[in-house]
Amino acid sequence: MKITLTPTIEQVINKLESAGFEAFVVGGCVRDSLLGKRPHDWDVCTDALPAQVISCFNGWPVIETGLKHGTVTVIIQGFPVEITTYRTESGYSDARRPDQVTFVRKLEEDLGRRDFTINAMAYHPRKGLKDLFGGQEDLHRGIIRCVGSARRRFEEDALRILRALRFASVFGFSLEKETAQAVNLCKERLAMIAPERIRTELDQMLCGQGVLDILLAYSPVLQVILPEIGEMRGFEQRSPYHVYDIWEHTARSTASVQAQRILRLTMLLHDIGKPSCFTEEGGEGHFYGHDRKSAQMAGEILRRLKYDNETLEKVVQLVGRHGDCFPAQPVPIKRRLNRMGEEQFWRLLEVKRADILAQAPDKQPLRLAQLEEIRFVLQKLLAEKECFSRKELRVSGTDLIDIGIPQGPKIGELLSDLLEKVIEEELPNEKQALLNYVRELSK
Ligand code: ATP
Ligand code: MG
Repeated sequence: MKITLTPTIEQVINKLESAGFEAFVVGGCVRDSLLGKRPHDWDVCTDALPAQVISCFNGWPVIETGLKHGTVTVIIQGFPVEITTYRTESGYSDARRPDQVTFVRKLEEDLGRRDFTINAMAYHPRKGLKDLFGGQEDLHRGIIRCVGSARRRFEEDALRILRALRFASVFGFSLEKETAQAVNLCKERLAMIAPERIRTELDQMLCGQGVLDILLAYSPVLQVILPEIGEMRGFEQRSPYHVYDIWEHTARSTASVQAQRILRLTMLLHDIGKPSCFTEEGGEGHFYGHDRKSAQMAGEILRRLKYDNETLEKVVQLVGRHGDCFPAQPVPIKRRLNRMGEEQFWRLLEVKRADILAQAPDKQPLRLAQLEEIRFVLQKLLAEKECFSRKELRVSGTDLIDIGIPQGPKIGELLSDLLEKVIEEELPNEKQALLNYVRELSK
């Protein structure tokens, strides 16, 4: 088994070795290389103590941020490389960060403190692969397995519970039996994890290829961080449009949308308000107002998980509009382009498509065809550079000043009025026609 290291990493290993230390690449980069993927970064571990690492790279830019935990970041030809001293950890009173880090002499001890077998392998260009826990076999079999007792590992650090689900989703793997049982047994400890850390894992988990299986198999675990989904599980919709309960519909629509963070979050939350909007008429279920309710709840959830405002606003808008029905005609489409912007409107179409793909199969063809028509009209509008924002309006503030409109708020109001009339196709987007209209108004 040969892994090709980058020249920079080779250089780091050689440098440590020529100073008399050991050095290996370790963790995610070994795992990704064995999977045939290019690692997004390389971590090096060594028996050199942090101060020794620093003096070894004397003259190179060094960041000492993780020093307490034994990590020194060296910037080599612009690339940051993390070099961490072999260590063990003990005492996890906050279920997250070790109270104490102990530097150790042996690579084996360092590998033993790592979370999963697939993450606990080290590699050296001449010494080869160090795989003490069967990580390579688990990679081949598609299994996430804790190093050592799963229960103890999750009790030490509850974030590992979400990491297990995240890696399983990203690689399309499943959890080994003992690890799966321990995930369920220890799930309540997730309540102790900081929202920022939950968010990072959730984002990656949602974008994974195996997200459907994870959402379906581990919803009680997710419920610890998103109590709102408890109501969705097993909630029958009693509608000809639906064959799945609300949670399964949610899971399937999440897996059906492109693997982009905003889209996946939107699908996860798009029906979260449904249970509280349920009414029944003549044996048929309805969820009037559920998009607005879901948007409000999505906002609360994303705020709670400390998402940035931009993500929050985009997701909330899409959740709130996911049920928006409009014909495949230029005017309604231009109105929405104006209100949402082009990027969000494209997302909305994706959201609607994913929603349909998780509905009753017999209802899909017609709805998908309607969506295709909207897409067709949209593409045409964009290709023809039709006007839906001030950018395309053929008249600017300066043009209005030139025909004698005094500077001030009036200019903005007139431009808004013109834009609306152009979008509604009450006026053509032609300079003279627009100026004539303004002249008429100001008479
Ligand atoms: P990626 O960077 O692709 O998300 P990774 O495996 O590199 O995956 P990191 O969070 O960068 O994950 O951590 C690097 C390594 O440190 C892991 O491969 C694992 O060996 C170890 N590790 C990280 N977090 C934990 C943890 N919570 N408990 C135990 N070991 C961990
Ligand atoms: Mg990493």
